[in-house]
Amino acid sequence: MSKRNPRSYFAIDEGEDSIVYKVKNAFTGGRETAKLQRKLGGQPEICPIYELEVYFFTRDDEKLRRIYFDCKNGDILCGEHKDEILRRILVFRKDHLKRKRKKLNVAQRIIRGNHLYG
Ligand code: SF4
Repeated sequence: MSKRNPRSYFAIDEGEDSIVYKVKNAFTGGRETAKLQRKLGGQPEICPIYELEVYFFTRDDEKLRRIYFDCKNGDILCGEHKDEILRRILVFRKDHLKRKRKKLNVAQRIIRGNHLYG
């Protein structure tokens, strides 16, 4: 992912439509056709969607291992995987923005330097 190309990454507080667009159009380690992917398996080792799993969205090593081999064995296709991770990204984003809104007043008070007085 390169910060020079804004389409190659997303920020968690950018618009939901933008995140959906970027994930749905992201490069993957998938094959040219679904038939070929079922036959040859995907390539998670070059896939940014799998990177999202590794670095941000799957803490459980066993689950990560399952995703890796489901991909390698051609048991999941990229469209399904993107839809599935998108659901988790959007739930995370919604929760993140809610927590951010709740803490905004506290942050503003700290910046103004009067957090000790109420
Ligand atoms: S199935 Fe998932 S991990 Fe495998 S190549 Fe496609 S998007 Fe990447």
